[in-house]
Amino acid sequence: MSADGEIRLPEVVEKSLRVLPLTRQEALWVLSFPEERVVELVGAVSRVRRRFFGTRVKLNALVNIKSGLCPEDCGYCSQSKLSTAPVQKYPYLETGEVLEQATLAGEAGAKRLCLVASGRGPAPAEMDRLTATVRAVKERHPDLEICTCLGLLKDGQAEALKEAGVHAYNHNLNTSESFYESICSTHTYADRGETVEKAKASGLSPCSGALFGMGESDEDVVDVALALRELRPESVPVNFLIPIPGTPLSEKRELTPQRCLKILALFRLVFPDVEVRIAGGREVHLRSLQPLGLHLANSIFAGDYLTTEGQPAGSDLQMISDAGLTVEPAGERTLPAERSDAEQPTTPAARRIGRVTLKDRRG
Ligand code: SF4
Repeated sequence: MSADGEIRLPEVVEKSLRVLPLTRQEALWVLSFPEERVVELVGAVSRVRRRFFGTRVKLNALVNIKSGLCPEDCGYCSQSKLSTAPVQKYPYLETGEVLEQATLAGEAGAKRLCLVASGRGPAPAEMDRLTATVRAVKERHPDLEICTCLGLLKDGQAEALKEAGVHAYNHNLNTSESFYESICSTHTYADRGETVEKAKASGLSPCSGALFGMGESDEDVVDVALALRELRPESVPVNFLIPIPGTPLSEKRELTPQRCLKILALFRLVFPDVEVRIAGGREVHLRSLQPLGLHLANSIFAGDYLTTEGQPAGSDLQMISDAGLTVEPAGERTLPAERSDAEQPTTPAARRIGRVTLKDRRG
């Protein structure tokens, strides 16, 4: 904010370039940016993206290793006990099937493989199966970063995952603390934060983000961004709700491409040197403005999402190239070297789809 009390875009951007925290007022100002001038916002904030991540786009692949059968009631989720959406239902995948997915991912160029399971949290037998699977994947694909997203963790589980070779743990805060009760009643906002802290304490790279388009206000968007900042995540997925028929939020249709870009601009400004990933809903909500999103975020999911399809991999690669960006290459670290808690460099590999749609969509 300037000495005269005015908030100006160049000054907000300059703050972020210097990794100084935005104030709540500045964050709200970003969300109130006029929609017709959103390209101006993207252009200015893209300086932050280029300063810390250059022209690189990290690709991530997702495998849905356990689907449906969830006793929780997250209103946005087609796998919840409230949902009547026709999702596949299966227990933890066998190791061979995950290996197959990891290989497909490896052929297609993603660096991170996200293994996502439905449910409140992993049972002991599920942990045993998963850790064996992770060891097998790491043996065959040592350069692939494995991220697991298994719900709430009990004491000792994060350490077991780390020991098996898992690199990161994802657990999203999803929305603000005050809005949380309106989207879920079977676990609390505090439960979510505690799991991220457990992952971090075990040495796993913390990955935590949010989901927008559920009826939250600008204040809620800012609240969750600032709450996430407190958790010091190393990667932050930004999801946009796909309202799935049969879920309680199936009628939510409030996002515009401009709104999504403003949220992404805010997250880039709040997390200047952190991996910001455009996750679910990219194609549905950004639509033809997806390339502008790539000038803010430095990471995307390639292929399909948990229970919905993404655009074909070939289209993603063409879009990245057309935007003047490049797929993050082998051996290059994602986070800037100057970050004190930066992850170790890895060599890449993967890209692929969720178990829900196993067909190859790389064309
Ligand atoms: S988001 Fe996870 S915990 Fe919530 S209903 Fe869906 S699968 Fe269950």
